Amino acid sequence: MDAPQEILEHVFGYTRFRGQQRQIIDTLMAGRDALVLMPTGGGKSLCYQIPALARPGCGVVISPLIALMQDQVEALRAAGVRAAYLNSSLPFSEAQRVEEALVRGEMDLLYLAPERLSQTRTLELLRRAELSLFAIDEAHCVSQWGHDFRADYLQLNCLHEQFPHVPRIALTATADRRTRAEIARRLDLENAEHFVSSFDRPNIQYRIAQKDNPRRQLLQFLRSEHQGQAGIVYCLSRTKVESTANWLCQQGYTALPYHAGLPAEMRAEHQRRFLREDGIIVVATIAFGMGIDKPDVRFVAHLDLPKSIEAYYQETGRAGRDGEPSTALLLYGLEDVVKLSQMAADSDGSEEHKRQESARLNAMLGLCEITSCRRQALLHYFGEELPEPCGNCDTCLNPPQTWDGTEAAAKLLSCVYRTGQRFGAAHVIDVLRGSENEKVRKFGHDTLSTYGIGTDLSASEWRAVTRQLVVRGYLEVEGEFHSLRLTEACRPLLRGEERIQLRKLPPKAKGARSDASK
Ligand code: ADP
Ligand code: ZN
Repeated sequence: MDAPQEILEHVFGYTRFRGQQRQIIDTLMAGRDALVLMPTGGGKSLCYQIPALARPGCGVVISPLIALMQDQVEALRAAGVRAAYLNSSLPFSEAQRVEEALVRGEMDLLYLAPERLSQTRTLELLRRAELSLFAIDEAHCVSQWGHDFRADYLQLNCLHEQFPHVPRIALTATADRRTRAEIARRLDLENAEHFVSSFDRPNIQYRIAQKDNPRRQLLQFLRSEHQGQAGIVYCLSRTKVESTANWLCQQGYTALPYHAGLPAEMRAEHQRRFLREDGIIVVATIAFGMGIDKPDVRFVAHLDLPKSIEAYYQETGRAGRDGEPSTALLLYGLEDVVKLSQMAADSDGSEEHKRQESARLNAMLGLCEITSCRRQALLHYFGEELPEPCGNCDTCLNPPQTWDGTEAAAKLLSCVYRTGQRFGAAHVIDVLRGSENEKVRKFGHDTLSTYGIGTDLSASEWRAVTRQLVVRGYLEVEGEFHSLRLTEACRPLLRGEERIQLRKLPPKAKGARSDASK
């Protein structure tokens, strides 16, 4: 047995390499550089951990995430690997011990924060040691186009200048073609071998539906397709996690809550049961999933909209690691759009950061509203082209119907305008549908020209129109009252110069709550 295979089995306890791991490891073993693009959970760590152990000397890993660094080092130590990290959180005496071990050749893997490498002291230390490789994790941080740019990464090309004979591997899970080229250029990796794994998870069926009665929708999904199977249900808030878990238990499922507000022992216990027992459903906030490697998760259901496509991909990616058919179901509604837009607008950080947050949210919403193949759109977002529609997503399986929503859109936009762009969707829809409620009368909105011009659509149809106009940028949601406002993009539509196709609501399933106001 050769060294990498032996290390895979005896140190890490796996039998087979996954995907391109073997080729990547061989490249480093031969002393050459590699640039690796692999989705999260794909198994990037072994690509540098194994050659670091198999080659003489210590492997140096540059990682910007202190928490992940600590986790990895702990896991490696538990497997008997001589691993350590140097970062600002470490007391001086301990740092000194690590440095001594490195120089004496008693270290297999050393994790460093990128800023360390701008210190001449660190470079001198590394020169006194024998090095097996450099691994640059989260390599997209070198790109100024991305959202994770870190100036410290720009200095990492010094590694090549100062240690020309030490092979380097740069790894990332997010890089389109342009970012990849930028990584190669900035890190002096032009001669590196590129390993680009597909992000496609063909066994996961993607489905995105409008929220109607989410509990009923979830129950129907579980009963008809995933009875007795293990899965994860994601919710945005802790309270919703708990109430959903309780409710699922009442329906006869074994559902365990998981969020950062629960005691550590309870979280560990729920995680343990999920891994060991059959048919457990974990209801969780996004705190759940990091480092969970359960192969037979048959479904991931989102009861709230994820805040970006990256998050959606990562969370749905926890389904079907074993390659067997699995489902990713997302239910979303206008209230999600409103809540997340608000969260993006209120988030701390610079204007630029807010702008990026809302751009990412919009991309996610775009994925929800498209009428073409979801998988093609998803992969396209990660810079990958799927030549044909996939045949395994909801839009491929049941092509959505569209209708000419030009007139409806014009009615809604003028009603938003006539009511002064100060009201939320619910009130605007009340006015359109000619409601006689208190609020409508109080503001005199029953005297407007747009009062009662929308009785042809139900309230839920109007909500769908509103949501699609928000998603497509005709309307904005603002302020604490979530008032709707027109944007510049409305003009051609209002002038009758543009027509708009909207997605039809799917016919209601049996037992659906009927629209009370109709
Ligand atoms: P990434 O860094 O790409 O997100 P990780 O390196 O954390 O992924 O690996 C994800 C999970 O897959 C880990 O639990 C890891 O132990 C497991 N894994 C990686 N390679 C293999 C393999 N060859 N066989 C089985 N499990 C693997
Ligand atoms: Zn498809």
